[in-house]
Amino acid sequence: MAEQDALSRRGFLRTASLTAAAMASGRLRGDSAWGANLHDAAPLSEFGYGDVLMSSEAHENQLRETQAVLMSLSDDSLLKPIRQMSGLAAPGEDLGGWYHYDPDYDYRKDFDAGFAPGCTFGQWVSALARAYAITGDEATREKVLRLNRLYAQTISADFYIRNRFPAYTYDKLVLGLLDSHTWVKDPQALAILEQTTNTALPHLPGHAVDHDVRWRMDKPADDISWNWDESYTLPENLFLAYQRGAGRRYYDLALQYLDDKTWFDPLSRNENVLRGHHAYSYVNSLSSAMMAWLVAGSEKHLLAAQNAFAMLQAQSYATGGWGPDEQLRAPESDDVYASLTHTHHSFETPCGSYAHFKVTRYLLRVTRDSRYGDSMERMMLNTVLGAKPLEENGHAFYYSDYNYNAERVYHVARWPCCSGTLPQVAADYRINAYFRGPQAIYVNLYVPSTLRWNDGGVAFSLTQEGQYPFESLVVFTLTASQAAVQTLHFRIPEWAGGSSISVNGARQKAEIVPGRFAAIRRTWKNGDRVELELPLTMRLEPIDTRHPDTVALLRGPVVLMAVKRAQSDALPRVTREQLLSARRLSERQWEVQASSGSVTLVPFTSLGDRPYTTYLQAG
Ligand SMILES: [Zn+2]
Repeated sequence: MAEQDALSRRGFLRTASLTAAAMASGRLRGDSAWGANLHDAAPLSEFGYGDVLMSSEAHENQLRETQAVLMSLSDDSLLKPIRQMSGLAAPGEDLGGWYHYDPDYDYRKDFDAGFAPGCTFGQWVSALARAYAITGDEATREKVLRLNRLYAQTISADFYIRNRFPAYTYDKLVLGLLDSHTWVKDPQALAILEQTTNTALPHLPGHAVDHDVRWRMDKPADDISWNWDESYTLPENLFLAYQRGAGRRYYDLALQYLDDKTWFDPLSRNENVLRGHHAYSYVNSLSSAMMAWLVAGSEKHLLAAQNAFAMLQAQSYATGGWGPDEQLRAPESDDVYASLTHTHHSFETPCGSYAHFKVTRYLLRVTRDSRYGDSMERMMLNTVLGAKPLEENGHAFYYSDYNYNAERVYHVARWPCCSGTLPQVAADYRINAYFRGPQAIYVNLYVPSTLRWNDGGVAFSLTQEGQYPFESLVVFTLTASQAAVQTLHFRIPEWAGGSSISVNGARQKAEIVPGRFAAIRRTWKNGDRVELELPLTMRLEPIDTRHPDTVALLRGPVVLMAVKRAQSDALPRVTREQLLSARRLSERQWEVQASSGSVTLVPFTSLGDRPYTTYLQAG
C-alpha cells in the first residue's frame, strides 16, 4: 500500500507538471477536464464569510478563542508599539513578546522581546473584520472602526524607518484595511490605506528583494535580521486593493513587486529553485503569482504557482506540513527525513497553513482540481486544527513537531507572527469549505456546516452532518424555495476508493473517481437528502522514496500519531502489517500490537500534552 500511495502521489505531481507544460504550449485547450477549464471557464467564486454557518465544535472553538483574545486586548495596547515608533505618547499596557518595541533591541542578543513590534496589528484587524462578517457582533465592528481611526493618527515615516519588517508590516496593514472596507464597510478604510501607502512607499525597496539580501544600507551589516523582510509577498494584497476599488496605482505596484527574476521565472519553467528559501513567506508569495493570473492574466505566474506547489507537495510531510526549520529543501534531498531527528521546528503551523489554504484556494478555483482540496483537508485536520489555543498573555502555537521525540508546545516567544495568522485561519474555514460556479456548488471540505445561497431567484441551503473524518458517512440535506436545477460537486479524495453517492436513497450512477469532484446535476427539491460514503481505509505513507520504511499511518485524511509514555522512549518496533491492522478502541483512538507491547495512536487534534511521534520505522 505504501508503494501504491507513493506512486499515486508522484502521479499527482507528474500530472500537475505535465498539465502546466501542456498549458504553456496551449495543447490542453479543450481536451482535458482541468486544463480546459483554465481557459474556457471563469474561476470558481468564493463565498462570503456570512454565507456559511459552522456547526463543528473544533472549528468554532478556534474562532471563538482567537476572537476572545483579540477583543480582550485594549486599543492602547494594540497601538502602543506603533505610537512609540512614530514618536507619539503611548499609554497602556505593553503586550510584550515580539509585539514590544525597544529602540535598543538587538537581534543578536535577544530573539524574543521586541523582534517584530506592531507586525501583527493589520492581521488582527483583518481577523476581527472577518469575524464581524461571520457573527455580526456590534462590539467587534466598533473595535475595527476604532482601531482604524486610532491607527490613522499614527501613520508616520518613522514607523517604517525603525521597523525591521517595513514591507511585511505594510502588507498586513493593507489587508486589515481592505477587510475593514469589504466586511465592516468602514467608509474611511480606503482613504487610510492611501495615506498608509503614501507614507510607506519611500521606505520600501521599490521591487521584490529576496530574504537574506541586504538592501538597507543604513542598518548594521552584521545584524542579518534587517535582511528578513518579505517584500516579495506584497503583490497579492496590492492586486486585491486594486480589485476592491483602491485604484489603478495598486495594480501597477503589484506588478512592480512580483519576484520574477529569482523565483517566478525559473518556477514557471519548472526549475526547482525551492532550496534554501524561507518556507512560509515563499509559499505565501505563490498567492501573489495566482493574483497575477487572476487579475493581470499572466500565464507565467499561474505556471509558477502550479509548478511550485507540486514541488512543495513532493517535500511535504504526511500531515501536509512542510519546511523544517522554516526552510524549503532541495528536490530528492534527505533533508525532510533528517529533520525527524534533527529538529523540533518541523512546520510553522498557523502561518504556513494560512499561506497553504490561500494558494490552494486560488489553485482549486482556477483549475477545479479537487486534489488541491485534498491538500487543504490534510493540512486542516493534521496541523492547524490541533494548534494550542492562543492565550491572552501572548502564548501562541508556532511549530508542529515531527521529531521522533515530539511535543506539542507553545512557542518560546509571546505574540509571534503565528499569533497574527491563527485568528485569520480560524475565520477562513468557512470560505475554504465551499465554492461556487454557474448553477453549481463545489463542496470542498466535509465539516458540519450549512451553506446558504441564492440562484435565479431561488433560495437554497445545504446542511452537512456526520462524524467525518472519523466515520465515513456525510449526510447532506438541501432546502430550496422552489424546485430548481443545480449541479452539486462533491470532492472525492484521492485515497477514497469505493466511494458512493445516494440521493434520497437511490445510488447515483454519476462517475465517481477518486481525485476528482463527482457532479450530481438534477432538479433539486426542498428536503432532498444526499448521502456521501467515503471509505476510510488505512494506508502507510513513507517520508520519501529513499526511506520506504519510515512511515506515517493514515486513516482517510487523518494521520494517526503514536503516543509515547515519555519523550525519550525508544521508538516501538512495528511491522507494516501491524500498523495497517490497528484496532479501533474509541472514536479517536487506535491501538497497534507491536512486538515490544501495545502502542496507542491518535490524531494530532487528540494528543493533548502527551509526547508522540508522527513517523515510525516499519520493517
Ligand atoms: Zn508564524
